[in-house]
Amino acid sequence: MPTALGLYLHVPFCSSICNYCNFNRGLFDAAVKERYVAALEREILTTGRGEAVDTIFFGGGTPSLLDPAEIAVLIGACRRAFAVTDDPEITLETNPETSNVSRMRDFRAAGVSRVSFGVQSLRPAELSRLGRLHSADRARLAFAEARDAGFDNISLDLMMWLPEQSIAHWLESVEGVVELGPDHVSLYLLELYPNAPLKEEMARGGWSQAPDEDAAEMYLTGLRALDRAGYRQYEISNVCREGRESRHNLKYWTDGEWIGFGCGAHSTRGGERWKNVAATGEYIDRVTRAETPALERRVMTSDERLEDAMFTGLRLTKGVDMADVGDRYRADVWARFGPGLQPFVDARVLVRDGNRLRLTREGMLVANEVMQVFV
Ligand code: SF4
Repeated sequence: MPTALGLYLHVPFCSSICNYCNFNRGLFDAAVKERYVAALEREILTTGRGEAVDTIFFGGGTPSLLDPAEIAVLIGACRRAFAVTDDPEITLETNPETSNVSRMRDFRAAGVSRVSFGVQSLRPAELSRLGRLHSADRARLAFAEARDAGFDNISLDLMMWLPEQSIAHWLESVEGVVELGPDHVSLYLLELYPNAPLKEEMARGGWSQAPDEDAAEMYLTGLRALDRAGYRQYEISNVCREGRESRHNLKYWTDGEWIGFGCGAHSTRGGERWKNVAATGEYIDRVTRAETPALERRVMTSDERLEDAMFTGLRLTKGVDMADVGDRYRADVWARFGPGLQPFVDARVLVRDGNRLRLTREGMLVANEVMQVFV
């Protein structure tokens, strides 16, 4: 369990809205952005009490739509309000179309140490079906520019099970990413929420997704290609080069603590959990009036914390140390969950090795079913 806090800063602006996106975001507006950055700064400054912090994560939305000077102001606010440790990991989620080498240099000078690009695919037809603004070449160039700017910790996101995507198409994107040689890769399955505009476009265009068994094969073959290229899977959806795990995201999976700033941001700390108001305007108004933007603040029971630690820890390839979690929440983990978990052990979806419990790679395909045991 990590001791230093992570800080998450939500930036809800995008240049255009992707047809599959269900995140808390809206269209970029320069005037709203300015007021929002001021509100974020204020929320950070009025929350911090000098606690140790070792990761800061700008997520969105498209945080790279902020100017490097604004990112510098926000990192500065974190440094004033918290005790940011030496060598923090400071991540900026970036879209390839919003970056260029001079902006990248300025982000780096502002203190950003890691960039995460939403590449999604390196096939033009797939990017256009998703309504993404960047081309495959622009994504490659953005990666090269970030390297030129001096970033030695770059993550690329890819999405699988896209409309009309075959296993071979998917592997083309994976191989393309391997050729670039990032430090970290995230693989996500496209999830179509009920009213996603992409659903309608798929119906109009006669596009379909490959059968479920192909989606499973995409996951497994994609990971095997990354294994061969020297990446190590450490979480269901994440692989990296040695020592390049996302230190921030590890806090979510190792029972760590974090504070989220900005509209819709979640926080978990000291057994309490809260969520900020989701609407950007209301968030700005509340913070400007010196009211708390936090809603739904509640103290988690020990049982909830235990379930949560198991649920999130099992996402890691190394799994969970049941003795450790049991000590923390004064519970006999196996006595409690064993009856529900044993069938998954018998089916070789889960491996129980002494106190350690972990999912196999094939087990990760049915992780949602396993996690039901903790819900
Ligand atoms: S850029 Fe990202 S956050 Fe913005 S609309 Fe597209 S998927 Fe959603």
